[in-house]
Amino acid sequence: MKAAIFHGPNQPLTIEQVEIDSPAAHEVKIRTMASGVCHSDLHFVDGLYPYPAPAILGHEAAGIVEEVGDQVEYVKPGDHVIACLSVFCGHCDNCLSGKPNLCQSKPGRGFAGKPYFTWNGSPVFQFLNVSSYAEPMLHHENAVVKIREDIPFEQAALIGCGVTTGVGAALNTAQVEPGSTVAVWGAGGVGLAAIQGARIAGARRPRSLAPRMSSMPPPATPSSPSRTLRVAEPTTPSKQSGTSVPPSSASKRSTRAVPPPSSA
Ligand SMILES: [Zn+2]
Ligand SMILES: [Zn+2]
Repeated sequence: MKAAIFHGPNQPLTIEQVEIDSPAAHEVKIRTMASGVCHSDLHFVDGLYPYPAPAILGHEAAGIVEEVGDQVEYVKPGDHVIACLSVFCGHCDNCLSGKPNLCQSKPGRGFAGKPYFTWNGSPVFQFLNVSSYAEPMLHHENAVVKIREDIPFEQAALIGCGVTTGVGAALNTAQVEPGSTVAVWGAGGVGLAAIQGARIAGARRPRSLAPRMSSMPPPATPSSPSRTLRVAEPTTPSKQSGTSVPPSSASKRSTRAVPPPSSA
């Protein structure tokens, strides 16, 4: 299977052939159908946050269940799911009080456990419980959310991070009240979702204070590489990075091109 390998800060990702483990008792193997390129992924590529390498980035995805562990009851092969980076245990104090996003005992293999992925026989780290820049993903069953089969994967994937972040900012963080006038700085994936969240909360005039995506400037130029996600040619058999390709090629599967809501 193919995956985009993160080699460390300020290096291009490379597409490599990697091996994926079989699902353990409570794990689910998922065929990745769509993955967003969230700016948080770029923060790790830029080195703003540390992460061990090699790793497979990507944390905003949707796909189809291919295989399940022998104790999985929530989903079955063929189910459509959204990947969820906020895996939860379901039995700690926070989970039982309705705050699974603050789970104190997140299940998973961890960095020290058996690797989810291997490349040339060496472990490749999973990223934020998801690692969606790979053809299949391997998740705990509490890191997926089952969805209807008629929802397009490109739109469902966005719910895995950008939509929940933006809608949650309006409903939970800002606690927008009916009739409010709401200003949202920035109209990217999260900002557009914040506007939608404000509308759901009953805001009278949700407004973005940034250009709509259709009028935003073109992608970053080579002089500002920190805002691009670079992908190099496969390096097999050596692990040396190859030639970079333009970011437009690397982000073909980005699902960020969401039209602004008509109410904005
Ligand atoms: Zn994200
Ligand atoms: Zn918990």
